[in-house]
Amino acid sequence: MKRPALGQRSATALALAAATALTALGLTACLGDSPEPATLVMRGGRVHTMDARGTQATAVAVRGNHIVAVGSDADVYRYIGARTQVIELQGHAVLPGFIDTHIHPVMGAERLAQCSVDGVQLTVADIVSYALADCLPFEQNPSPEKWIQIANVNPAGFVATTTDLDQISSTRPVALHGIDGHTEWVNHVALQRAGITAATPDPVGGQIERDANGEPTGFLKDDAQGLVDSIIPPLSADDRIALTAQALALARSHGITSVQDAWASQEALDTYEAMEGARTLDMRVRASLMSTIGDDEAEYQRLIGIRAHFAGHPLVRADSVKIFSDGVIEYPTQTAAMTKPYLDANGQPTANLGGRYFDTAVLGRYVTRLDKEGFSVHVHSIGDYTTHALLDAFETAKAANGDTGNRHEIAHLQIVDPADFPRFAQLGVYANMQLFWALPDEYSIDAVQPFIAPDLFRYMYPAGSLKAAGATIIGGSDWPVDAMPGDPMPNTPLSAAQSAITRANPFEPAYAGMTLDIEEAVTIDDVMAAYTINAARALKQDATTGSIEVGKLADLVILDQDPWQVDPTALLGVTVLDTIFDGRIVHDAASAGAATAKARTLHALATLKRLSGHEPAKRPTRDHTNEVHPAIVPRATR
Ligand SMILES: [Zn+2]
Ligand SMILES: [Zn+2]
Repeated sequence: MKRPALGQRSATALALAAATALTALGLTACLGDSPEPATLVMRGGRVHTMDARGTQATAVAVRGNHIVAVGSDADVYRYIGARTQVIELQGHAVLPGFIDTHIHPVMGAERLAQCSVDGVQLTVADIVSYALADCLPFEQNPSPEKWIQIANVNPAGFVATTTDLDQISSTRPVALHGIDGHTEWVNHVALQRAGITAATPDPVGGQIERDANGEPTGFLKDDAQGLVDSIIPPLSADDRIALTAQALALARSHGITSVQDAWASQEALDTYEAMEGARTLDMRVRASLMSTIGDDEAEYQRLIGIRAHFAGHPLVRADSVKIFSDGVIEYPTQTAAMTKPYLDANGQPTANLGGRYFDTAVLGRYVTRLDKEGFSVHVHSIGDYTTHALLDAFETAKAANGDTGNRHEIAHLQIVDPADFPRFAQLGVYANMQLFWALPDEYSIDAVQPFIAPDLFRYMYPAGSLKAAGATIIGGSDWPVDAMPGDPMPNTPLSAAQSAITRANPFEPAYAGMTLDIEEAVTIDDVMAAYTINAARALKQDATTGSIEVGKLADLVILDQDPWQVDPTALLGVTVLDTIFDGRIVHDAASAGAATAKARTLHALATLKRLSGHEPAKRPTRDHTNEVHPAIVPRATR
């Protein structure tokens, strides 16, 4: 890394002290109008302001937490005073701090505390031996009551039964959490503790898998996970705060300075509020409040109350509501709601159209009311059926309320009907995409392609088509949905850019030479805007963030290479040198080292290599996070 050491910065400041001394002697006039000095100046770089005119600059000056000058090195020179910290960029790139519009920091933090299999594709036998050799011997305070939890199980093609998991323990409850957050596998003791029997109905929004005799197999999909998760003792508030701090530090190491928590629970809100109060948050948090589709006055009032509670908080807002309208598309879960049935192993249509988890009339009333109350609505949607229904609901809201200025978002958009592409622009609905996933891998190729109609597969993560139809694309990681061995947060704005542009898999040789719907590729302009100014607009914070302009907050990222100059297949290698939040350097690559690495990673990695029989590639693993409703209402019939 070629960035100047702190010593050089100090030397620069010292050299400039002379100029300031002249000012003190009353020679100001010779130097022109000297403004109040900046606290931080960076110059000699490639500054991509992302403003409306696409201005390029070389220097930025910051005073306190605001940007006071943007322009050439000469333009900012007069802002340098005796105590100004000067960063000589030496050609490095500067962008607005990245905004991750769909992430689950607190939920992901909880996973940091669990024994992880890092999304590596494994059999249940592998996981049993991993648990016995690498999890249980390292447990802190084991007790007969304590849950054994394994995180980040790759669900693509994974099969496990209660009997399999009894091999981990037949006396303690065991739960395996799918990395997609939509899947969970438990043992007999866990089923008993949760009271799940053949007589238990499927909960709204979820499915309990059953064998030929109607007995639960231990596989729980979507909201059925809540039956078990709701009885697992929660982390202590202190542990949650400490783990969330780790998660947010990881995000800052990727240049992220604002997040939208895409399923904010009360625990998450309490965590952010405590960190904000302790001045340790160092992140702008827009909470998208977890809710369920239902025309329920008490729920509207609960949401309004939370929003009011956070009004006036400097870093935390809660003016968005998150719902989820279907599950996931991958075999064997297949709960994403589709217009055409899933196919069987012979390519023949089955009876399965996915999980139709809502009533369209109720959805319309719910979205209309939230829109009227001033909430932006943010929805998880994978299947084309759900996205169509959601656009209908937003259309209903617009017809009833007019243009309220809310900025609704549909997240994921794995399969979209081409007829719906123009409706995003027409209705002002943002396309919240996780473009890191737009590549050929075991999910898209192995667990989806054979099981859906080819004309649907043509429009997997259709970013190019959406953009061509005028939609605004915004970027999100959906962390902790992705993990790789040794890298707990591989889905970054830059790795997403690489996938979005190349639609190719750089991690796994098995997919070399393939692309995923290359017609859907977008450009570096699109992806960088998706993580900066467009994201800021979607989150209603474009007046203060999202571009580098005088008067905006000083949230900035310094990259070792200019993403516009790098070959798209090398974007993964672009490194964040510094992240500046609110005018302060909150991540410095030179000094960060491995501070955020998990202590057990190396040990676990050795085992994972042994289990998978080869050096695991840095493979992408993903799906959707643990979006489990807090209250499970049993379905009356079925
Ligand atoms: Zn999510
Ligand atoms: Zn989701």
